[in-house]
Amino acid sequence: MPPPASGQADVVEPMWLTWATSRRQIRRGHRRNATSGENMRRIAAIFLAIVLVMFLPVIIPVVALLDCVYRKRLRAAACAFACLSCGGILGLESIRLADAEWDEHLRELRETYPSTRFRLVRHVRAICSACGARYAFLERERAFVQTGADGGLSTAHGVTTKA
Ligand SMILES: [Zn+2]
Repeated sequence: MPPPASGQADVVEPMWLTWATSRRQIRRGHRRNATSGENMRRIAAIFLAIVLVMFLPVIIPVVALLDCVYRKRLRAAACAFACLSCGGILGLESIRLADAEWDEHLRELRETYPSTRFRLVRHVRAICSACGARYAFLERERAFVQTGADGGLSTAHGVTTKA
């Protein structure tokens, strides 16, 4: 592409803006002549979409695999971690309790706000079956930290921070 002449600097719009603009123009029925630059951007966007769709069969198993690895680490850590409150080993039951509580929480949200989509972050990964202490999981450290009743991590950080 030749360098733009002075005063003709090419303004690069975000992709979505380009698309939105061209869609609006099509609706209004007076679409201006597409320059080769616009065409290139459109082709690039279509190409990107095709690549994304092509790689979905790769992305989905990778995400599933990562989740599998995470749960494996979670289970291993739970079977080796002694509860900070009562001293008992958390074990697989603690993970099951946390999963059940999370599922119940999601179900309640869906019932209360049926038409709302939530972006939720989950903190509680294990609940001690003996004393009910709630734990978040630190994957990198392969360790649990106690969380508050609201699932917040603010109090938990004090437990893990090394001096
Ligand atoms: Zn406990």
